Amino acid sequence: MGSTVTCDEIRAALLLTMTHSRRPQPTPKQAQHLAHCHDCQALRRYLYTMLLAGTDQPPTSCAASQGDLAAYVDLSLDLGARVAAEAYPDLWWHLWACPACAELFAYTAALATAERQDALHALPLASMPAPQRRVIGRLALAPGVVSRILQTRELLGRAYGGEDDLVLNEVESDGYSFHLSLQREPAGTWEILVGVIPPVVGLAVIHVGTKVFQAPFDPLGVAHVTRVPNILFRDGQPAISVTIEVP
Ligand SMILES: [Zn+2]
Ligand SMILES: [Zn+2]
Repeated sequence: MGSTVTCDEIRAALLLTMTHSRRPQPTPKQAQHLAHCHDCQALRRYLYTMLLAGTDQPPTSCAASQGDLAAYVDLSLDLGARVAAEAYPDLWWHLWACPACAELFAYTAALATAERQDALHALPLASMPAPQRRVIGRLALAPGVVSRILQTRELLGRAYGGEDDLVLNEVESDGYSFHLSLQREPAGTWEILVGVIPPVVGLAVIHVGTKVFQAPFDPLGVAHVTRVPNILFRDGQPAISVTIEVP
């Protein structure tokens, strides 16, 4: 992905921070530009002092940023850029020059937007920015396995829809442990959980038949995809494959 963003575009985008714009920003490309452009960094510094009068350059860390990312995304989408930046100025600062966190932000914002549209299961891959990510783990289930496990559970009379996870697959590789599980939701839909130990910053990309879901890992190393329709695990008994991807 070439750097096609200009300083003018960055300035316009940065200035939206002072407005109630609900466009999720920055994009990873914008953050990439800013990481290397002193002119744009100067504007970022100026805006930061407007947000937090009298404060100099804040500490900046990926780990510290990720804890607040979900709340920041919610504020950005619901109340606008300025409210989000004023609530989390250090995160705002960090996102504007860290392409990795900006990418996680873009995905989190895309998922949150889809959730708001109640269209999570239809989230098309094509609407995502072209990522440069590394796969650190894979999980897979042959067609029919999920429905066989579900049938067995029903036959055994296990508490169906209880709190316990239905663990489908566990894999160890390269010092990581990955697992894939399902949990019944009250409405009859399913939550897909992908876990990684130790936790990573990244995404779980989950293929169920022809459907594709993506979810970022939370600080505990769990990616959640909620409200997956029941029919997905019954009809045609699709294969499931998961990749664990990091920036
Ligand atoms: Zn620039
Ligand atoms: Zn970062």
